[in-house]
Amino acid sequence: MKAPRKLHIKSYGCQMNVYDAQRMVDTLAGEGFVETAGVDDADLVILNTCHIREKASEKVYSELGRLRLVKDDAARNGRQMNIAVAGCVAQAEGQEIIRRAPVVDVVVGPQSYHHLPQLLARAKSHGRALETEFPVEDKFGFLPPPKPDAIRARGISSFVTVQEGCDKFCTFCVVPYTRGAEVSRPVTKIIDDVLRLADHGVREITLIGQNVNAYHGEGPDGRVWSLGTLLHRLAEIPGIVRLRYSTSHPRDVDATLIEAHSDLPALMPFVHLPVQSGSDRILAAMNRKHTADDYRRVIDRFRAARQDIAFSSDFIVGFPGETEEDFLATLALVRQIGYAGAYSFKYSPRPGTPAADMREMVSAAEMDERLVRLQELIDSQQSAFNVAVIGNTVDVLFERAARNPGQIVGRTAYLQPTHVMASPDIIGQVLPVRVESLERYSLLGQIARSAEARSVKTAFSQMTSPQMTTGT
Ligand code: SAM
Ligand code: SF4
Repeated sequence: MKAPRKLHIKSYGCQMNVYDAQRMVDTLAGEGFVETAGVDDADLVILNTCHIREKASEKVYSELGRLRLVKDDAARNGRQMNIAVAGCVAQAEGQEIIRRAPVVDVVVGPQSYHHLPQLLARAKSHGRALETEFPVEDKFGFLPPPKPDAIRARGISSFVTVQEGCDKFCTFCVVPYTRGAEVSRPVTKIIDDVLRLADHGVREITLIGQNVNAYHGEGPDGRVWSLGTLLHRLAEIPGIVRLRYSTSHPRDVDATLIEAHSDLPALMPFVHLPVQSGSDRILAAMNRKHTADDYRRVIDRFRAARQDIAFSSDFIVGFPGETEEDFLATLALVRQIGYAGAYSFKYSPRPGTPAADMREMVSAAEMDERLVRLQELIDSQQSAFNVAVIGNTVDVLFERAARNPGQIVGRTAYLQPTHVMASPDIIGQVLPVRVESLERYSLLGQIARSAEARSVKTAFSQMTSPQMTTGT
């Protein structure tokens, strides 16, 4: 029997890339590849890249420099190693990668990775292969489903892509160019995926998309289903105890999504809702198509539907033309909403986007200073949110053995890692945990006896309750 070939994938960036990497593994399993944790013994190394900010893109070329040495070493030992670059840098800079990095055998964009077996064969016969078209066919129709062993090895929580691409064209963002136009997968395909995952032990599903709540897939009834309608259907699947979705756009929050939050206990009360800035002037320059007040109203609608809901967000500081006054409006918005956490980034000009041609650049020193001020505020909110759990009993979905012997780690509804001493039998179960302390970002506690078990709502309603945010 032929020995399996070894595949090492390194993924950068968003959840979509994590999902795509798994689907590449599933695709190449059919070609006799098995995953390996290290690069040294790999026959094929794939870098699944991110183009969202300059720093993320640069990593690719430095990683390729390191891989050249490993590939040369393998060749000296009579072993052939292939290197592929996938993801958004491949899409945006395919020709440039071929020119700058002779070590690369295959370049493949995010919509074409179902062609990886053919591209590897082409590289073997022709030296190198590049595919960065947006093919007419839908890659999902060609991707083989994951094998039961692979599902089990990936754990009890899984991503499922429901929507890809973006038609919003925020002026700073490369996604519409690298991932292409917005496309939603049909409902029946998503249900099939979730049924298969649930059959093999998955308990939590996170529906993902660049603009997940713009989902408008064809339903089994021939009508267009929204994300809220899809969530209602998925909540009926036995075995699925938690549902999440990411990343949402404030403009696409419709009544069905709000209803899903009031109707479905399985839908976790934690929403990532990026706003980017609190200044209407900057939001307009970003082409976000919403104001700060529109965003506040959306938050209010979620809070009215579910009292214990909490939010995270994304912010960009130093967008061209951002004044101190604009930045203060962002800080004011953060204070008013009160986040459980958030990501904040310095603006990074991306070639080909409209903002890259804007002139009024904010100085590097000002950007640094604003980023520190924003992160301090967000960190203080996140700490307060975490500290509020101490002494309360919260529901935790247990995921895996922790690094410390005897400990099992899981997550609360708000994705806070939570450690308890327990038997691995609890993996896959949602159990009440009495939280005793907080170590950095991790909660420590004990499984509560049923008499002690109280709902998580008590802890979080204190944090998030009727703090309505409409108006300035
Ligand atoms: N679709 C999501 C949305 O509309 O909010 C986010 C997609 S993007 C992958 C994730 C985050 O990266 C954005 O929310 C934004 O904060 C950040 N980002 C995107 N382009 C950026 C840029 N040019 N410079 C700095 N941050 C950027
Ligand atoms: Fe990028 Fe804006 Fe689309 Fe989000 S909505 S992916 S930030 S263009």
